[in-house]
Amino acid sequence: MSEATPMRFDLRPEEIPTAWFNLLPSMVGAGIQPLPPLHPGTKEPVTPDLLAPLFPEALIAQEVATDEWIDVPGEVLDVYRLWRPTPLMRATRLERDLDTPARIYFKYEGVSPAGSHKPNTAVAQAFYNRQAGIRRIATETGAGQWGSALSMACRMFGIECLVYMVRASYDQKPYRRILMEAFGATVHASPSDTTQAGKQVLASDPGSTGSLGIAISEAVEVAATNDDTNYALGSVLNHVLLHQTVIGLEAKRQMELAGERPDVVIGCVGGGSNYAGLAYPFMADRLRGAAPDMRFVAAEPAACPTLTKGRFAYDFGDASGMTPLLPMYTLGHGFVPAPVHAGGLRYHGDAPSLSLLVRHGHMEARAYNQNEVFEAALRFARTQGIVPAPEPAHAIRAAIEEAEAAREAGQERVILFNLCGHGHFDMQAYDDYLNGRLPEVEFDPSEEEAALAELPDAPVPG
Ligand SMILES: *Cc1c(COP(=O)(O)O)cnc(C)c1O
Repeated sequence: MSEATPMRFDLRPEEIPTAWFNLLPSMVGAGIQPLPPLHPGTKEPVTPDLLAPLFPEALIAQEVATDEWIDVPGEVLDVYRLWRPTPLMRATRLERDLDTPARIYFKYEGVSPAGSHKPNTAVAQAFYNRQAGIRRIATETGAGQWGSALSMACRMFGIECLVYMVRASYDQKPYRRILMEAFGATVHASPSDTTQAGKQVLASDPGSTGSLGIAISEAVEVAATNDDTNYALGSVLNHVLLHQTVIGLEAKRQMELAGERPDVVIGCVGGGSNYAGLAYPFMADRLRGAAPDMRFVAAEPAACPTLTKGRFAYDFGDASGMTPLLPMYTLGHGFVPAPVHAGGLRYHGDAPSLSLLVRHGHMEARAYNQNEVFEAALRFARTQGIVPAPEPAHAIRAAIEEAEAAREAGQERVILFNLCGHGHFDMQAYDDYLNGRLPEVEFDPSEEEAALAELPDAPVPG
């Protein structure tokens, strides 16, 4: 490698993908049949009318779309243009630090206005809601990554954004709340006295610090009881993963510019959207036999090891058991992960399509502890100059492992990972790590067992 080794592969503004990529036809072609979501009461496949009070028709259609390509509306492209195409970089300084023959590439989604990949779907969802005449979107947010993306997107399309933010984060992590308010959103600490669900919790526990489950209940209640208000989700659902494929479509062309084909594609997994966004355009090549040796590695926290330790089963998408049943790897909807700093990865389940790919052996999964993840994050920050969010630091950990394995094997290996967000709002986590205050969280299998005992009675076929 010389000083002149190219490190950055940029697309021109007009090369933003104009259609999203739907992996479903490739999965079916490879003999992987999707399983339908089920009605929580009847256990029959969900019909669109169940979702109509919450989502606009266009998004419900995308949820079950069988077309391989779905056009990105011009108005969505106009907003994407504010930060897309995003850069693809080669991490030459990290390579040198690791003394590895591997070549490490990363796609950087932290350049978006909210600092993560989430605006890719937030913008699309805000557009389709506005098009359907919706005046307001209600949603929940944990630490505020999804809430800040949706606040920005709603503002772009002139609709209101109402965010229920888990009380604990609202009090402890004010900066993303302020970011949401800067974009014009209304942010309530959840539980709040603005909904029946919130009032019920407060009546029995006035000091409640809230949970994602309670915040979802509040947002869904507002959407279900107001005709002018819809609900929006930032991960897990098919249409969210679909919107995120702009990441992988760009990355594929950028890897071509670099004259490379990845041997391994890596991402962190909470609900699965940023990783699917990067991986699915490449996965299509594997499924159709054009890249049978390409490997896919999903990285998750050891405190919430859905893919490595969960069960493939029908389960509720939310903690309080209100949503349709999704076929996925799950730790049980009642499983409460330890409060690790990678808040975006603390989800009990995973996107159904991603779960199927793991189940069928097309994707592997690894789980990491907090301290090894932050060690990798700092190594990356100190070589490449970007402080990553704690979530993609899991992907960095996996990428470093791959690079070290390549060194041991004396092998050239092309590694691609998704750097799905920067860590500028996560300084408390870095402070905790730097001062030795990060507990090594032990996963307790008995808690998973207890949560799995509460799975709804709906066996998966096969
Ligand atoms: C929300 C979030 C995640 C987790 O969600 P996925 O759907 O798995 O991508 C990961 N990283 C960042 C930076 C996030 O904001």
